[in-house]
Amino acid sequence: MANIPYPLRFKPLFRDYLWGGRNLAARLNKSIPAEGSWAESWDLVDHADHESEVTNGPLAGRRLGQIMRESANWLLGVDHATERFPLLLKYLDCQSVLSVQVHPSDDFARRMNPPDLGKTEAWFIIDAAPNSVVYAGLRKGVNRENLADAIRLGIAEQCLHKIHPCAGDCLFIPAGTVHALGAGLLVAEIQQASNTTFRLFDWNRVDAQGKSRQLHVDQALETIDFSRGPFHIQARQTTAQPGRFRLVDCDKFVMDLVTQPGSTGDDGRFHILTVPTGKAEIRWDGNREPLPVGDTVLLPAQMPQVRIEVERGTTLLDMYLPN
Ligand SMILES: [Zn+2]
Repeated sequence: MANIPYPLRFKPLFRDYLWGGRNLAARLNKSIPAEGSWAESWDLVDHADHESEVTNGPLAGRRLGQIMRESANWLLGVDHATERFPLLLKYLDCQSVLSVQVHPSDDFARRMNPPDLGKTEAWFIIDAAPNSVVYAGLRKGVNRENLADAIRLGIAEQCLHKIHPCAGDCLFIPAGTVHALGAGLLVAEIQQASNTTFRLFDWNRVDAQGKSRQLHVDQALETIDFSRGPFHIQARQTTAQPGRFRLVDCDKFVMDLVTQPGSTGDDGRFHILTVPTGKAEIRWDGNREPLPVGDTVLLPAQMPQVRIEVERGTTLLDMYLPN
């Protein structure tokens, strides 16, 4: 399969967890079903549990995993060492607080049955209701014993570092960090393509039948990095391009925020572009492709340089693998 590279679009996969709402449609134009509460839109994923399907161009109908098997160089560039597409992009509509959780490192996840990737993730806060919170990391001085006691007593919140985020903020949550998204947040999340979560506290909630959700306290305590304390809002680093800010630069992914016209690609790497707010357009080789709010495209590594046009007030996220 040798195709002229073009921006790939995928069919989003929607998840109806209990904490969701209608904002994926209202704010991000996602085509969730007309009824019900919808928590997550998985815009791009290649995992044993879920796999995105291309909706446009010559590869329409193909799944991301198939493209990886047949044309990994075309998609990822020559320097890849992975069988599955390494990143997962989601949008989340958090109408009530999510469980307090932690994700394992690659080392830990590799030893599980079945094995998985670890999960380092980052959040871009699109909207935050007044007084909404995120929990990111442990408060200073909290150790394994304190946390285990607090979980047993149903007061784990007292151990967590709490932040009031604003629209446009970014939080970086490496594997091993205790975290929870609070109510009233609309979030774009980039993460390793893993589906492993250890839940350590669920706010003492029970469902209509009086049942609580399963916790994984032992694995969580095994996984938490107790040497790391509180996490804070990421500082925006300027880059060589005006209006392009580096939000996260870690060994799993880079996340840039683009707020002014610029360019991307032509660097031997794939780029995931998504538009949390506003309106953008990409142009290359005489082609143009609109990117309205909520849209996501994957630019294969073989794409030539792409020009990014953004309307005033737009936020566009550009995510790719580090060098
Ligand atoms: Zn998480």
